[in-house]
Amino acid sequence: MKTSELRSKYLQFFESKGHKPVRSSSLVPHNDPTLLFTNAGMNQFKDVFLGFEKRDYTRATTAQKCVRAGGKHNDLENVGYTARHHTFFEMLGNFSFGDYFKQQAIHYAWEFLTSPEWLNIPKEKLLVTVYAEDDEAYNIWHNEIGIPAERIVRIGDNKGAKYASDNFWQMGDTGPCGPCTEIFYDHGEEIWGGIPGSAEEDGDRWIEIWNNVFMQFNRDEQGNMNPLPKPSVDTGMGLERMAAVLQHVHSNYEIDLFQNLVKAAARETGVAFSMDVPSLKVIADHIRACSFLIADGVLPSNEGRGYVLRRIIRRAVRHGYKLGQKGAFFHKLVPDLVQEMGDAYPELKEKQTQIMDALKNEETRFAETLEKGMGLLENALNTSTQTLSGEVIFKLYDTYGFPYDLTADICRERDVEMDEDGFNREMEAQRARARSAQNFKANTQLDYNGADTEFTGYADRSGSAKIIALYKGS
Ligand code: ATP
Ligand code: MG
Ligand code: MG
Ligand code: MG
Repeated sequence: MKTSELRSKYLQFFESKGHKPVRSSSLVPHNDPTLLFTNAGMNQFKDVFLGFEKRDYTRATTAQKCVRAGGKHNDLENVGYTARHHTFFEMLGNFSFGDYFKQQAIHYAWEFLTSPEWLNIPKEKLLVTVYAEDDEAYNIWHNEIGIPAERIVRIGDNKGAKYASDNFWQMGDTGPCGPCTEIFYDHGEEIWGGIPGSAEEDGDRWIEIWNNVFMQFNRDEQGNMNPLPKPSVDTGMGLERMAAVLQHVHSNYEIDLFQNLVKAAARETGVAFSMDVPSLKVIADHIRACSFLIADGVLPSNEGRGYVLRRIIRRAVRHGYKLGQKGAFFHKLVPDLVQEMGDAYPELKEKQTQIMDALKNEETRFAETLEKGMGLLENALNTSTQTLSGEVIFKLYDTYGFPYDLTADICRERDVEMDEDGFNREMEAQRARARSAQNFKANTQLDYNGADTEFTGYADRSGSAKIIALYKGS
């Protein structure tokens, strides 16, 4: 089954169960400054869950564009290393706003996954987790669906545990929250990984395909969990992960949609096509995130969302450089992406020229300093073996436009540590210089805009209580 077919089937299935198909919202949550990018299907419905907003439907289904780079859900470092993480991905979801609850949600999920008319996935390949104390969900899976006990894993909120699978979702310190149940697919014993809750759960054998959250309580300021008068449901299925299952491939990058992007990356970097070159997969991943972000109005800049975009573009360009491509190449993948995804997301087609221009601009800009920066870095790596000094990291950042995480990406490939404290000291010294410059200019009555372009982590530091749309299960 092609990825696009899976997308339509999901929406069709839930539409046949009385859900209203709703278009994906923008990747930029314009009315929520606490959220960096849309990172889950429920973001656009958060006020409906909270009861602040009424819609003329109580069931909805969406294919939602999501970006998990920067902010709370940062999967940027996973890209190129796991078979299942992207910076941009699509989340399929079904939502109940005070309509059906656990039992119906679980039955729908199971029917869609296993019924021969729908996905027809062999039942014995699936494993589920429930929140440790959620006997109700456990019993539905066990007694009604018939999942054997050894394939239902109870998972707690595991605070502080090293391998902290977490099956309790909460909106923030207060507000709607509840247990969740997750469905995993077993890609087979030849792939490394352990079942959820085990020490090897980060492997790629059992891949989490679908999270069903039961919004059941409203947590008050004293920490009391008051049952919601109308419990709700919020689910998220990774489109690319599910497509991989249906196409009998292990890695998301091998699905139809990604194959062509990886091929395009090979073509534009001038290397032979292969699924074994991580940089090609990284480039294929990043062209999606960057193009979709630009289509939704983000442009590369030195702060906030624009800086995350800049970081992703520069990482892609650096991976191209690593493969020997020193010219601007990244923007040339946009037509391939439009080919793959333009029908589902017409904004890509409409904005194709702007996307290409913005990428080319940023690539060209970075190309001016990339080579020199790489020279400095190579030198430093040749002389000091174990740890890259804070001064070098700072110089790369400040003079050559290497975001910290880009340097980290290179160091990780070379197995070299980074002196992060040293880098922070250099940053602090620069801030102090900027402050004194600011005072000086203020004293002389000049208008000063501030030269401090440091990215401070955005949503991460803006107070978790206000961040609504976070799954704790990450
Ligand atoms: P994982 O544990 O694999 O990182 P998660 O628990 O962070 O996933 P959720 O927040 O529960 O994921 O999101 C719901 C679904 O979205 C997941 O079950 C998965 O199918 C999909 N998903 C999550 N993150 C990504 C990603 N970075 N790339 C592709 N799909 C993803
Ligand atoms: Mg999850
Ligand atoms: Mg998870
Ligand atoms: Mg995660």
